[in-house]
Amino acid sequence: MLDTPGFTPITPTADISAERHGSRAKCLQRLVRMDLSVPQTVAIPFNTVRAIAGGKMPDLNHLIGLFEGQPLLLSVRSSSQTPDWGGPGAVLNIGMNDKAHAWLSNTLGDCVADEIYLRFIRSFSIEVMRLDEEPFDEATTPAAARAVYEEEMDAPFPQDIAAQLSVVLQSMARAWDGTSARLLRQAKGAPADAGLGLVVQRMAQGMGPGQSGAGVVQFISPTTGEPQVTGRYMGQAMGRDALRNRENAIYLTRDDRGPSLEELLPEVYAELLEVGARCRIRLREEMQVEFTIDQGRLAVLDAVRCPRDARASVATAAALARDGIIPRSEALLRIAPETLSRLLHRQIDPSARATVLARGIAASPGAAAGKLVFDSATAQASLSRDEPCILVRRETTPDDVRGMHAADGVLTERGGTTSHAAVIARGLGLPCVTGATGLTVDEKKRCITLANGTRLREGDEVTIDGSTGEVLAGRVPTSEPALDGAFGDLMKWSDDVRDIGIRANADTVADATLSRTFGVDGIGLCRTEHMFFDGSRLTVMREMIFAETPPDRAAALERLLPMQRDDFTELFKLMSGLPVCIRLLDPPLHEFLPSQTEGIRALAEALDRPLSEVKARIESMQEYNPMLGMRGVRLGIAVPEIYEMQARAIFEATVAARADGAEVCPEIMIPLVTARREVELVKRRIDAIAGAVRAETDSTFEYRLGVMVETPRAALRAGEIAETAAFLSFGTNDLTQMTYGLSRDDAGRFMSAYVNEGVYPEDPFGTLDVDGVGELLLLGASRGRKARPDVTLALCGEHGGSPEAIAFCRLAGFDYVSCSPFRVPVAKLAAAQATLLGQPRTK
Ligand code: PEP
Ligand code: MG
Repeated sequence: MLDTPGFTPITPTADISAERHGSRAKCLQRLVRMDLSVPQTVAIPFNTVRAIAGGKMPDLNHLIGLFEGQPLLLSVRSSSQTPDWGGPGAVLNIGMNDKAHAWLSNTLGDCVADEIYLRFIRSFSIEVMRLDEEPFDEATTPAAARAVYEEEMDAPFPQDIAAQLSVVLQSMARAWDGTSARLLRQAKGAPADAGLGLVVQRMAQGMGPGQSGAGVVQFISPTTGEPQVTGRYMGQAMGRDALRNRENAIYLTRDDRGPSLEELLPEVYAELLEVGARCRIRLREEMQVEFTIDQGRLAVLDAVRCPRDARASVATAAALARDGIIPRSEALLRIAPETLSRLLHRQIDPSARATVLARGIAASPGAAAGKLVFDSATAQASLSRDEPCILVRRETTPDDVRGMHAADGVLTERGGTTSHAAVIARGLGLPCVTGATGLTVDEKKRCITLANGTRLREGDEVTIDGSTGEVLAGRVPTSEPALDGAFGDLMKWSDDVRDIGIRANADTVADATLSRTFGVDGIGLCRTEHMFFDGSRLTVMREMIFAETPPDRAAALERLLPMQRDDFTELFKLMSGLPVCIRLLDPPLHEFLPSQTEGIRALAEALDRPLSEVKARIESMQEYNPMLGMRGVRLGIAVPEIYEMQARAIFEATVAARADGAEVCPEIMIPLVTARREVELVKRRIDAIAGAVRAETDSTFEYRLGVMVETPRAALRAGEIAETAAFLSFGTNDLTQMTYGLSRDDAGRFMSAYVNEGVYPEDPFGTLDVDGVGELLLLGASRGRKARPDVTLALCGEHGGSPEAIAFCRLAGFDYVSCSPFRVPVAKLAAAQATLLGQPRTK
C-alpha cells in the first residue's frame, strides 16, 4: 500500500492539473466547475499509476469508499497529459458481480442485467486478462461467459469490486509502458518519461427502463470546421456504442434519413446544444462530448477535443478568435504550420486503403495519381488528352522541366530534398518523391522495377504522396485543397505579429502571382536559369553556349535580351511596390544542353552542324564535378557577356515597368561567390551597364547589388564581401552541400541510413543544421554586419520555409527568409509563432 491515498476526487476546488493527472482529469474538473451533471469521479495521478505498474496499489477500499450508493459500478479511463498521446481503452462496469446482477435484474430487468454482466465479463477477460476472444464468441449468457473465464483461468470470476479494480488499474498502467504504446506516443512528441493518469468514474447507465442510452456529440464538422451537430445516439447502450454500431444508432439532429434524438427527446437535445455552447466558451475549444441518458436525464461523462482535419483546425481556431473566445495570438499558436501545407495541396484521403510500392524522400507536398510516363513529350501528350500522369525519371535535368509542367506529379529514383526535381516541383506546387529507394527506373524500356521484382510499365497507374514520400499502387482517392476565409484571417493575423520578412522564391509570372496572393514581402530569389528552359528559348540559349566567336555569342545574347526583358518587366509589374531580387545565371552551362540522343540530334539540326561535332562539344563541356565547377559567378567572370545581357534586361525592364506605372525596386544577386574580387569585377560591369541604360533611356533608377553566401568561404569572408554588397542572402542548399561535402543530388541514396543510424539527427537538406551550417550563418551574419551595419541579411535556400530555420534566422537578426511560393503561408505562420514565443530580436 502507498502511504498517501495517491488519488484525488474531482471537485471544483481539488488540486488537479494536466501535468500531474492528465488532460482528461483536468477537463472533467472543468466540466464539474461548469455545474454539468458529471458522475462522481476520482483522478489517479501519474506517480500513483507508475507505482501501480510497479506492483504498489493504493488503498482501493478507501478509493471505492469515496463513491456513495449501491450497487457501485465504475469505469476507468486513461488520462495522458496531451490527448494525442493516447492511452489504453476504457473499461466499463467494474463492480459487476452476481449481487449487482441480481439487483439490476430487479430494478432494470433481466435483459439489461444480463447484457451488462455479459459485456463486463467479456471485456474483463479479453481486454484486461488478455484471454483469447474466440472461446467467448459462443457464450451468450453471463453464466456461459463466466464458465469460459473460469475454464481458461482455472480460478473463479472475481466478485469483489476492489479485486476487479486492482486488476484493471494494473493492466492499464502496464499497457502504457508497452513498447508499441511508447513508440506511438513518442512519434507524437511525447517525452520518453511521459506519464499516464487514470480517472475512475461512477457509471451512468445508458441501459434501463424508459429513455436510456448513450451517445457522442460534436458541434462542428470535422472536415470543414463549420458549425454542425454530428454524432449518434443509441438507446440501451453505453460508452461509444452509438459510434461503433451505426446501423442501430439514431441521428442527433432531425434528418430525412431516419429518426433523431431531436425528435425523440427534444428537451435533452436542447440541453446537449447548451452543453456544447457552454463548453466552447468555458473550455475555449470545440469539444466532443460523451453522454448518457439515464431514464430521461442527461449525464456528461467525458469531453475531449473534437477530432478534426487540417481545414477544420484552421477554421475552428479562427472562429474562436473571431468570437473573442481566445486571443488571435492563441489562434496562431494552436495551428502547427505544416497544417497549412496540407490545406494548400491535395491530400490522400485518410480513410483510403493503399498499398505502398516504394518509399522515397518527401520532396514536394501533396498527392497525385496518374499514369506513369517516362519523358517530357509523353507527359505533354497526356496533358493534351487531359489524362493525369506521373513523370518518372532516374533524376531530372532542365530538359525535363517541360514535362514537369505537364505532369501531375514527379517521381525520381535518385536525388534528395534539394535536388533539381525537388526544387522545381516545390516551385510549381507539384507533388514530388525523390530518391525512391528500392525501385529501379529504366527510361529506355519505360518501366520501373520494384524491390520485389514487380514491373510497372508506361500507362500503369500509381499515386505518389509527396508529403510522406510514399509511392502507392493504383489510383488512391484524394481530397481537394481548401483555402477559405479562416485561412485568410490566419495569414493576416500572422502579418500583424511577425517581425521577420517572408519573401518568395519565384521565377515565373505564375509563381509571382501566387506569391502575391499569399501576401509576400517581395521576391527573395528569382532563379533566372528557369526562364531559359522554355522550348524556343532553350534553343537560343544553346546557340549562345555553342557560339565560338564573340560576335556569334553577341548575336545569340541579342535574341535572349528581349525575352529576359519581357520576363522581368512582367515580374516587376506584378510585384509593383515590392523588392524583386534577381539572381544572375547560376548553373553550369552544359546543364542547358541535351543529354539524350534525340535531343542532341534536334540540336544539331537547329544549329545546322554535324551530329558528331555537337556530341563532341557537349562532351568537352562535361565536368567531373559540375556543382563545384564552372558555374555561378565563375561563369560571370569567364563569359561576362551573359551577366551583362541579364543586367541590361533588368535595367531596361525597370524603365519599361516604371513607364507603365509600376513601382520597381530591383535587386541583383551574384551566385556562388567565394571572394571579394569576384564581386568587385561583376559590380564594375553592372554599374557600367546601369549607367549606359540610364543615359540611353534618359531615366534615373537605383538598384541594389547583393551576394549569395553559399560557399563556406563566402561566409567566412562575409566582412570584406559585405563592403561591396548591400545584402547577403545565404543559399543554404549549396552551403549545406559544401559544408558537409555532401552532394545534394545524391544524398538521398544513403540519407535514411544515416538518419536511422543517428549519424545526423535529420536530413540537413530538409532541416537546417543549426550546429554546423548554422554556425556559418551566424559567423557570416556578424562579420557582414560588423563591416556594414546596414547590410540586409536573408536566407533563400529551401530551409527558408521551415519553422526551425525561421526561428533561427529571426533570432540571428535576419531581415527576411525566402521560400517557394507554396511554403509562404507555412513560413508566415511559423514566423508569427517564433515572434510570439521567441525572445526579442537582436540586431
Ligand atoms: C541555394 O544554394 O541555397 C540556392 C538557393 O540556390 P540553388 O538552390 O538554386 O542552388
Ligand atoms: Mg545555390
